[in-house]
Amino acid sequence: VTTPFPAPSATAWPADAEAIFALALPESWGGAGRGALAACDRLEALGRQGVPRGILLGMAAHLFGVALPLAAFATPAQAARWSAPLRCGTAIGALAVTEPEGGSSFEAMRMQARPGTGGGVVLDGEKTLVCNGAIAGLFLVLARHFPDRGALGLTAFLIPRDTPGLHVEKLEVAALPGAAMARLVLQGCEVPEEAVLGRAGAGLRIFTRAMRWERACLLSGWLGAAERDLDRCLAALGGRAGGAPLRHQAVLHRLARMRLRLDAARLLMRRGAEAADAAREDAAAAAMAKLAVSEALVECAQDTARLLAGAGWRLDPFDAAAAVAETIGGLFASGTSEVQLDTIARQMLAERRVA
Ligand SMILES: Cc1cc2nc3c(=O)[nH]c(=O)nc-3n(C[C@H](O)[C@H](O)[C@H](O)COP(=O)(O)OP(=O)(O)OC[C@H]3O[C@@H](n4cnc5c(N)ncnc54)[C@H](O)[C@@H]3O)c2cc1C
Repeated sequence: VTTPFPAPSATAWPADAEAIFALALPESWGGAGRGALAACDRLEALGRQGVPRGILLGMAAHLFGVALPLAAFATPAQAARWSAPLRCGTAIGALAVTEPEGGSSFEAMRMQARPGTGGGVVLDGEKTLVCNGAIAGLFLVLARHFPDRGALGLTAFLIPRDTPGLHVEKLEVAALPGAAMARLVLQGCEVPEEAVLGRAGAGLRIFTRAMRWERACLLSGWLGAAERDLDRCLAALGGRAGGAPLRHQAVLHRLARMRLRLDAARLLMRRGAEAADAAREDAAAAAMAKLAVSEALVECAQDTARLLAGAGWRLDPFDAAAAVAETIGGLFASGTSEVQLDTIARQMLAERRVA
C-alpha cells in the first residue's frame, strides 16, 4: 500500500504545530487568518521551551516556504486538495529551489520542465539541501520552463512525494538533524498541467513572495532558543563563585550586546513579517530581517560559548559549541548574507532611481 505522504508520526514536531499553522493560514484555508507574525510569536515561544532548532526550522519552512505561498497562489482545486493536509501537518511541505551547481543564482538553475507526451510537463534535474525533504508529502519545485526567458521563464510545480520519477534521498549534513534535509532527483518526472502553481512562467513571482515570508520569519523560533540559552548562561555565571564572572565589565558588556542584538533582530523580524503579511513589495524588509536575525544568532551563540567557557565545553548546562554549529546553518538557509545585502542595496538604489 502506498500512502500519499508519510504518517505524521514520522516527524517529531510538537503537538501544537497544527495550531500554529492554523493560526497563520487564511480563513479560506480553515485557519484563523492571523498571518505570519502571530506564528512567529508562537514559534519563538517553542524555542524558549527547548524545541530543537532543526524542528523549529522544519516547521517554519513548511509554513512560510510552502503553506502560506500556496494559500496565496493555489487554484481552487489545488486548495481543495492541499489546504487541510498542510494546515494539519499531515502533509509536510518542502520548498525545493537550490541545486548542486549553486543556490544563490537562477542563472545556475539546471532543472528543466518540458512538454510531456500525455499533455503534462516532464521535469528533469536535481535539487539539494531541501529542508523537510526527507519527510515531506508535497514538494514546491522551481524549474526552468521557458529557457529563452531567463528568470521570467521559471515555473513553480506542486509535486506529491509519490509521483513517479521523483527520488528522495536523505542528506548527511553538518547539524540540525530535525530539519530532515534531502536531495531530490527528478528523472522523466511527469506531472499534469494542474501541478503548475499560479501560472506557467510565474515561478519568480511565487518564489519572491515565498522569500518575503521565509526570510522574515524562518528563524523566529531560533530567537526563542537564543533567549533560553542566554537565560541558562546567566544562571550558570551567577552560580559560579558567588557570581564572580558577572563583576567583570567585559562580561557585562558582552551580555548587554547580546541583549541589544536579539532585541534589534526581533524588531526587524516583526517589521518583515508585517510587510510580508500585508503583501507589501518590500524585499529589503525581509532581507534585513534575515540578515539581522541570522547574524545575531551566530554572534549570540559564540558569545554564550565564550561566557560559559569550560562549562559549555563540558555540556553544562548545554552544548554551547553545537549551538554555534546549528546557528551557522541559519546564515545560508533562505539565501546567504551576501544575497540579502545585494537585495537591500538594489532596493535602495531603485527607490532613489540611482543607476
Ligand atoms: C539549514 C539550511 C536549510 C536550507 N533549506 C533549503 C530549502 O528548504 N530549500 C532550498 O531550496 N534550499 C535550502 N537551503 C539551501 C540554501 O538556500 C543555499 O545554501 C543558499 O541559497 C546558498 O546557495 P549555495 O549553498 O549553493 O551557495 P552558492 O550560491 O554557491 O554561494 C557560494 C558563496 O558565494 C556567495 N555568493 C553567491 N552569489 C553571490 C552574489 N550574487 N553576490 C555576493 N556573493 C555571492 C555566497 O554568499 C556564498 O558565500 C538550505 C541551506 C541550509 C544550510
